[in-house]
Amino acid sequence: MREILKVNTIFAEQINKECGEDVYSCYQCKKCALGCPTAYAMRYKPHQLIRAMQLGQKDLVLKDQSIWLCLSCQTCMTRCPQSLDFVKIADAARIIAEREGYENPVPEIAAFNSSFLSLVERFGRIYEIGLVALIKLKTKQITKDMVMGLHLFFKGKFGLLPRKAENINEVRRIFNNVKELESK
Ligand code: SF4
Ligand code: SF4
Repeated sequence: MREILKVNTIFAEQINKECGEDVYSCYQCKKCALGCPTAYAMRYKPHQLIRAMQLGQKDLVLKDQSIWLCLSCQTCMTRCPQSLDFVKIADAARIIAEREGYENPVPEIAAFNSSFLSLVERFGRIYEIGLVALIKLKTKQITKDMVMGLHLFFKGKFGLLPRKAENINEVRRIFNNVKELESK
């Protein structure tokens, strides 16, 4: 008797609930991966991650570094015949991974993301030296890339003190709206 393959759809449903994208609309044409600037560094390319989601392979996706390497450039989305938004899908996978306590295989990226957002919320714009300091504190890699950092500093690429953006209240309003939405 032929066995009927039962697919676990729970992970795909979680992704759908988080970002509204339906991974089952992907038919594996690979156009996303072929245009992706960071696919070379990903263990699993965008279409492979989506396939794993279709098959309910949650651990494979959430334990791997690939979802964290997406640059949110949207090249894949513009190439996708199904208009799947992989940026939203990767973000949803990252949110689920953090919420469910998966260990992050590239903590520098999560440290960059949270530091960047906290500085933009505070100053309405980025403050480079503060960003470097926060990332170093979070990752405890104090001396990493120090030579490059000093090089940039002496070239005048880093302002010593933070400057607040003129539209700081607008920026804070956006952050407050997001927090309100997240708390619902
Ligand atoms: S381009 Fe779209 S349909 Fe094609 S593999 Fe990628 S996500 Fe799937
Ligand atoms: S959005 Fe992410 S997955 Fe898509 S092409 Fe850009 S880097 Fe690659």
